[in-house]
Amino acid sequence: MSAAFTLVFLAALAAATGSRLWLAVRQMRHVRAHRAAVPASFADAIPLDAHQKAADYTVAKTRLGMVDALLDAAVLLALTLGGALQGLSDLWARVLAPSSLGHGTALVLSVLALRGLLELPLGAWRTFGIEQRFGFNRMTVALFVADVVKHALVGAALGVPLLGAVLWLMREAGERWWLYAWALLVAYSLFLQMIYPAVVMPLFNKFSPLADAALAERVERLLARCGFRAKGLYVMDGSKRSAHGNAFFTGFGASKRIVLFDTLLARLRPAEIEAVLAHELGHYKLHHVAKGMLLSWAVSFALLAALGWLAGEPWFYQGLGVKSASLGAALLLFLLVVPEFTFFLQPAMSLYSRRHEFEADRYATRHSAARELIAALVKLYQDNAATLTPDPLHSTFYDSHPPAAARIARLRAT
Ligand SMILES: [Zn+2]
Repeated sequence: MSAAFTLVFLAALAAATGSRLWLAVRQMRHVRAHRAAVPASFADAIPLDAHQKAADYTVAKTRLGMVDALLDAAVLLALTLGGALQGLSDLWARVLAPSSLGHGTALVLSVLALRGLLELPLGAWRTFGIEQRFGFNRMTVALFVADVVKHALVGAALGVPLLGAVLWLMREAGERWWLYAWALLVAYSLFLQMIYPAVVMPLFNKFSPLADAALAERVERLLARCGFRAKGLYVMDGSKRSAHGNAFFTGFGASKRIVLFDTLLARLRPAEIEAVLAHELGHYKLHHVAKGMLLSWAVSFALLAALGWLAGEPWFYQGLGVKSASLGAALLLFLLVVPEFTFFLQPAMSLYSRRHEFEADRYATRHSAARELIAALVKLYQDNAATLTPDPLHSTFYDSHPPAAARIARLRAT
């Protein structure tokens, strides 16, 4: 049984990694093939040099993605069949009883930390290699290091109590531990959303109230038109890290805030900012945010049920290179292996997300002006060097947002 499961795992890993690489190659080939000319529908809005920069930027990012996919696969193989997980488990067992919460926690944390360290060079390459070369990076090495340390500390502060609680439930709560763990996860995700804007985000960025009174008034009018209440309108110093612009909402219920990147304010006209916000409001008003949360709860329910079953099956451990079953090993193996099996659900998730983007665009055209949203999107595509000519299959598979041409064609038709 365990040998059969090893084969299933290897087949899933090979299929997922092979597909990731194949899609990346297609994307690079397609973008390069369309590098010479701006697509006709953007010819008057986007200059050729910007189009070519977007092509080169896309190719560079996609190539990094290929390295990432290969590294991921190698690390996963080393941890499982390569015996690294078993080795670490044995190491911790010298100081902590293998069935203890301490052992489980130490094992999970050490593997996650190890993986984080291995991925660090790729993150540095992304920031100081690619983003730097294309003029997007604003980070210093000191800020990069401070971010890594802070993320690790925040991750530990928020994650270790949850991890400890889940391991405790696995050990003490009997057969249905996974059901309690799921309830805990749902409650914890609500708690995180509540504290995130006020407690976590200020650790990384400065938020100041929007100073531009005319723009603030314009936004207030939009909110009133849409019947939306928010607890404040903030500007975030996104320029501290990157030249990319963005706008988003955080929190939920009474603690909702609207956050605009300073880079977005610097680049878009007030009417365009209003249109972008109207799109974001659409996501709330059409319940995309609530639906997304419900969907993630449903997915974690299914996954935890699967873990509840697998954690009791010896072939699950043995098939993945772990001889001594333990709580920490069960949790880790599951977290590590699941993405290889769920990879092929990606196109469905992307389709679902793209449908929501079209709906939010339609909402924006009803409460703001379509031509302003088009103008804003064209500027954002250009500023972010987003490719206008993605490979159709790559786009179908991964893209959470519709391709630029399709999106703007629909906006023009309204
Ligand atoms: Zn959107």
